[in-house]
Amino acid sequence: MTAKTIGIIGGGQLGRMLAMAAARLNFRTIILEPQADSPAAQVANRQITAAYDDPAALAELARLCDVVTYEFENVPVAAAATLAASVPVYPPPKALEAAQDRLVEKRFINDCGIPTAKFHAVDSQEGLEAALKDFGGQGVLKTRRLGYDGKGQKVFRSPADSAEGAYAALGSVPLILESFVAFEREVSIIAARSTDGTVVAFDPAENVHRNGILHTSTIPASISDATAEAARNAAEKILSSLGYVGVIGIEFFVLADGGLIANEMAPRVHNSGHWTEAACVVSQFEQHIRAVGGLPLGDAGRHSDCVMQNLIGDDILTVPDWLKRKDALVHLYGKTESRPGRKMGHVTVLTAKT
Ligand code: AMP
Repeated sequence: MTAKTIGIIGGGQLGRMLAMAAARLNFRTIILEPQADSPAAQVANRQITAAYDDPAALAELARLCDVVTYEFENVPVAAAATLAASVPVYPPPKALEAAQDRLVEKRFINDCGIPTAKFHAVDSQEGLEAALKDFGGQGVLKTRRLGYDGKGQKVFRSPADSAEGAYAALGSVPLILESFVAFEREVSIIAARSTDGTVVAFDPAENVHRNGILHTSTIPASISDATAEAARNAAEKILSSLGYVGVIGIEFFVLADGGLIANEMAPRVHNSGHWTEAACVVSQFEQHIRAVGGLPLGDAGRHSDCVMQNLIGDDILTVPDWLKRKDALVHLYGKTESRPGRKMGHVTVLTAKT
């Protein structure tokens, strides 16, 4: 097999895991990342150390790579479009456009026939007050762009919660107010689409967040077969309507009646899919590399049940204990400095498949 070179924009842990999966299939990888010695570059063939939108760096990446992908959804769309003029970029830049702005994203998901929370665009304090009134004083206010891990959000649980100054407190930037979804649980689905249009999906994961950051993913999720099927169908619709190539992660709220409300989509490998490296023959990372590298997708069945737990900040100190367990796969990200809220690694504990 010829050694193709895959460019990866972004040097974090997701890029690291993609580069490791790529190497196993004889692909070379080049990381574009401004931070030197990034987690991804430590295991890749080369790093171009420059800003994501540096024209010379993008030209070099296009020249050296057979295909370019990315590990985070805030890659500048203009940079992806520039690259796409001379090298295939997967997932397609239009997936970035759909995912970077929560308002555009919700409209797109609704256009695919998939329900989301109700929403209003909010561009002023008065607009916020009117939107809140429409939702009975409840809702979740979010920045339209650049929010992650629950950052840039304010929750209004009851009409007694004051909205005073909330627009300014979130930076006086374009916002979205979502209706408050009284969900029973949160699940996500990780699915892949290949260049020939084949779609495969892993089993949905049930996710628990702490302080807005993913804490655990449990597989199987406590949902009915019908709900799991609905998640798979939603993923298929989103992937095919984007002409997508690669792995996507889609998060949902599950209502008491089993109905699904889509929350957000990430056009990349996803934290709630890390379990696949331990409980499936082909992980989400390999699946993504297969898709963007033009190889057939692997089987997405799982051989074990499992719980993936993120190691955040000082959780890294528990690694010696995890290493003693024969049922746990430990994965660390090569970050030398631990800070509160920083993802340092994860561990997946396997049990017999039910
Ligand atoms: P997000 O950044 O959109 O993933 O939101 C972070 C977390 O906030 C979600 O995982 C939910 O637990 C909660 N959340 C977000 N949006 C809503 C909503 N519209 N209703 C209820 N809870 C929400």
